[in-house]
Amino acid sequence: MKLHPETKAIRTQVSRSGEREHSVPVYLTSSFTFDSAEQARALFANEIEGNIYSRYSNPNTDEFIAKICQLEGAEDGLAAASGMAAIFGCLAGLLKQGDHVLASRSLFGSSHQILSQILPKWGISFTYADALKTEEWASLVKPNTKVLFLETPSNPGLDIIDLEWACSFAKEHNLISIIDNCFATPVLQRPIEFGADLVQHSATKYIDGQGRAIGGVIVGRKNLIDEIRFFMRHTGPSLSPFNSWLFSKSLETLSIRIEKHCDNAEKIADYLDNHSSVMSVRYPFHHTHPQQELAKKQMERGGGVVCFEPKGGLEKAVQIMDKLTLLSRSANLGDTRTIVTHPATTTHSKLTEEERNAVGISPGLIRIAVGLENANDIIADLDQALGT
Ligand SMILES: *Cc1c(COP(=O)(O)O)cnc(C)c1O
Repeated sequence: MKLHPETKAIRTQVSRSGEREHSVPVYLTSSFTFDSAEQARALFANEIEGNIYSRYSNPNTDEFIAKICQLEGAEDGLAAASGMAAIFGCLAGLLKQGDHVLASRSLFGSSHQILSQILPKWGISFTYADALKTEEWASLVKPNTKVLFLETPSNPGLDIIDLEWACSFAKEHNLISIIDNCFATPVLQRPIEFGADLVQHSATKYIDGQGRAIGGVIVGRKNLIDEIRFFMRHTGPSLSPFNSWLFSKSLETLSIRIEKHCDNAEKIADYLDNHSSVMSVRYPFHHTHPQQELAKKQMERGGGVVCFEPKGGLEKAVQIMDKLTLLSRSANLGDTRTIVTHPATTTHSKLTEEERNAVGISPGLIRIAVGLENANDIIADLDQALGT
């Protein structure tokens, strides 16, 4: 029977304990036993498949990876202790001294730190490419460029990069394409369908969806995953069995949660667009977004994040943040609870003002990670905070 992705995300179960349980148990075990000395030898020699030690694999982690691979249409994958562990593991596993990374400038804050402060310690250099000036990218490729790393929609600017174009650009220049698909999730966007080599997620966000656990995952071409697996296994940023179990269960509700995040976000974007204290609104599927057409070409819907800039800049933004009574002031996203963030003073405060401006993070920009509350209640809190 050919199953739809959301059905696969619900029905996939890699392991059963033998107790006829319906929900998969948590395999809280650091190691696994061998039936014989010969079986142990064969497992270590990679002649047979099986669990040895939970830093390498665990039934809960395998189930989580199997589900996300099905949703993304990927051959293979690896789970990591955080989204950043997935990104670092991927870059460190694939690159060596002397290699160069071409990266979109519109990246998550800690991704900037890895590229600009950490990888250079090992002789790996990078160049930023402007997400909105892709015609310049070809001139930024060097003979030693090995990876193209980008995020679309970007955090928090919500810039969109044409995935079909970017993946064929990467192939043409012999680069490994790595896409951070955290904001869209596979429900809304599947980069592998456009030719991406690797897709990475912070599972902390929509995959968990309930603000409980930190984790990450990377999926894609098997030969690349094998290379990264060597690095991950021996350096140890593995995902715990319990967090794997949480994420695997969460994937069962991902598609229905994302639909509601999108329903609510569309309403919030319309509300903000019509408010007299709001200077500008950003939401991928909103008529005010300059790349609305491109977003609609590669995404099913616009996602759960809406950004806006109030009239009155930083001072007004701070006022709005402080007046919220229902919505959370926090730095996460993808939670059931709406979270409001001021990127310039929090998530992106490590960037210089010039760097922030280059990716559209103005001093007054506010990011709303729209949750699953009744949209009217979210709007009511924003309304009293925005004032007139
Ligand atoms: C949160 C986030 C990350 C980092 O993930 P962690 O789980 O916090 O380590 C990477 N990329 C994007 C787009 C994110 O939003």
